Amino acid sequence: MFDSMSNDGNNLAAAIVTTIRDVVGEGDKVLHEPVFRGNEWACLKECLDSGYVSSVGEFVSRFEEALQDYTGAAHAIAVVNGTEALHMALLLAGVEPNDEVLVPALSFIATANAVTYCGAVPHFVDSEGESLGIDAEKLRDYLASIARQQNGICLNRHTGRVIRALVPMHVFGHMCDMDALLAVAEEYGLVVVEDAAEALGSFRDGSHAGTRGLFGILSFNGNKILTTGGGGAILTNNATLATKARHLTTTAKLPHPWRYRHDAVGYNCRMPNINAALGYAQLEQLPVFVENKRKLFARYHDAFSSMPDVKILQEPAGCHSNYWLQTLMLAPDQAGQQETLLEYAQDQGLKLRPAWELLNHQTPYSDMPSMPTDVAEALQQRLINLPSGADLGGDHV
Ligand SMILES: *Cc1c(COP(=O)(O)O)cnc(C)c1O
Repeated sequence: MFDSMSNDGNNLAAAIVTTIRDVVGEGDKVLHEPVFRGNEWACLKECLDSGYVSSVGEFVSRFEEALQDYTGAAHAIAVVNGTEALHMALLLAGVEPNDEVLVPALSFIATANAVTYCGAVPHFVDSEGESLGIDAEKLRDYLASIARQQNGICLNRHTGRVIRALVPMHVFGHMCDMDALLAVAEEYGLVVVEDAAEALGSFRDGSHAGTRGLFGILSFNGNKILTTGGGGAILTNNATLATKARHLTTTAKLPHPWRYRHDAVGYNCRMPNINAALGYAQLEQLPVFVENKRKLFARYHDAFSSMPDVKILQEPAGCHSNYWLQTLMLAPDQAGQQETLLEYAQDQGLKLRPAWELLNHQTPYSDMPSMPTDVAEALQQRLINLPSGADLGGDHV
């Protein structure tokens, strides 16, 4: 027995799936697949032949230099994953136990976890609908109502804690309005650390993601635009902080040919050479990956342009996005169809994915401070990621 609502839902789901098929072709399609079509085997062989697979080696430096060239960041420090990159960046940015750090509710849980690893408290903020990133205007009004400043330090009037930092996240590779967010951070004395895990290859007004804050971080996990297996990087333009980052991520060992002397409790989270070898070969292909993803966007955009109940998310004004994940946005009155669509597509061999559950609703974070997140909540119910691998946009379909 069907009521008219679920019938509508099935019709919409069927129409969406047919349209996706027009773009990606037949067969099972996952959300994102890595592409290894360059010098991966050659670089991995060179790495194995060198005997240096784990400790910081030749490929780590080469990968870091290539990242610096591509992003324009003065310094790139390769580490074991994006989560640790964010953890280290927050520590080096001066985040201390019991501080609060402003993070978007609409993000992957690593953004909040990295704050928690510092002993600090994530404080969740709302998003805006164009970039899906933090809403700067809403943040400014919110801080005006809950914060007070004392000797350049921002204090939460309700909790008494220091609000130390702001972590903008560039959702699915679309960059948030960094000018506006940096202005709010400056007004309130907040340090900015950009979670650019998803945004390697994205630029806004000529600046690469992760290069405007004191730090930015990247991820090279298997599902990101390029992969090192597991990996991440810290970006900064500050030479002193870059030196500290290298030190902190290599057990805080003092340089000496044979003595084991450490001047702090450091971390062991530098990227192994073998992962960097893979990353170096992948980075050579990044321009092609970005180009193919932008082609894939154009094809989805055309295919869905005549369907009034949905739209394909487009890069914000001034942005040149990597289109890491392609995103379908259901019309507000179709938000209730998300589950039906996900289920129907799954049955048809298409692994679509909803955006993350909001962080302020996740079990470990439901009691943490949060501003009202009604925009993020509405977006969460309307967003669906489509198959997005770079190959789908190339000539290999
Ligand atoms: C992938 C991702 C991370 C974490 O990166 P890992 O390399 O998987 O640790 C952090 N933040 C966001 C927004 C991400 O998408």
